[in-house]
Amino acid sequence: MTISSLFHSPKTTTDAEAIYRESKNPIYLSGGQELVLRLQHELQHVSDLIDISTIDQLRGVYIEGSTLSIGAGESHAAIAGSVVVTRKAPVLSELAANIGDSQTRNRGTIGGAIASKIRSSDWNAALLALDATIHTTRTSYMAEDYFSKGGLSEGELIIKICFELPCKGSYLKHTRASSSDAIVGVLVSRLHKRCRVAVVGTNRTAFLCPALGSALSSRFHPDVYDHSHIPCNMLTENPEASLDYQLNLLEILCKRAINICA
Ligand SMILES: Cc1cc2nc3c(=O)[nH]c(=O)nc-3n(C[C@H](O)[C@H](O)[C@H](O)COP(=O)(O)OP(=O)(O)OC[C@H]3O[C@@H](n4cnc5c(N)ncnc54)[C@H](O)[C@@H]3O)c2cc1C
Repeated sequence: MTISSLFHSPKTTTDAEAIYRESKNPIYLSGGQELVLRLQHELQHVSDLIDISTIDQLRGVYIEGSTLSIGAGESHAAIAGSVVVTRKAPVLSELAANIGDSQTRNRGTIGGAIASKIRSSDWNAALLALDATIHTTRTSYMAEDYFSKGGLSEGELIIKICFELPCKGSYLKHTRASSSDAIVGVLVSRLHKRCRVAVVGTNRTAFLCPALGSALSSRFHPDVYDHSHIPCNMLTENPEASLDYQLNLLEILCKRAINICA
């Protein structure tokens, strides 16, 4: 079987979207950490590979007022090593530093992780807990809307993500022995006058725990935690982790994260 996909290297998002529109079965390629694995099975269906990794517009890490802006094309390693992120939102540099192995961190991007409809990312907890806005070539989504609407539309590109700067934050995850993927991950953030708690887990999406967030906003102490604060319908039973096990992990991780942020 002969496989022939066209390879494009646009320099702007406008060009990238134009190529996408004009192609029969195109796909964007950023760091390739998810895509290359998929292409082993799907390459024969792809007419055009559009490499977005050299688009300058997708780069940059900077502070805008009370938000931290991170370009979608920034790698996890660049975010982990950024002086701005380390100083202003250390919870995000720690989160990035604990993603995958060094290849995944150096090639994989925050945009690719958030755009993925296949696997859940640690970044998804950060989006929710730091009340992030995802700016795309078409619109801006609040993180909660982004997840509830099922992510990006066809051909849409993430440009940058703006996180509210937390006063304090802690992300803790419990992983399988064989991988860095979270069985359960918890991000507790203390924002200006309010707290937010987000969970990422085995069900491929992240979710907020509003009841726990508001209880902590009134009294920031680990004793505040109660299982009733967790929207259990968002957890899914699976062979590796029963619901009881996941709830037990959640309690331990939430209490530890609250202690760290106290
Ligand atoms: C071994 C391994 C371990 C991992 N461990 C972790 C972990 O511990 N925690 C964690 O959170 N994640 C983990 N991941 C996931 C990893 O973070 C993502 O695969 C990676 O960040 C994807 O980014 P990428 O740039 O490589 O995307 P690509 O593989 O290039 O693309 C992924 C998808 O996103 C689309 N896309 C990419 N960029 C954009 C954009 N700017 N706008 C719109 N669509 C876009 C592509 O078209 C494609 O559909 C791991 C992955 C691997 C392979």
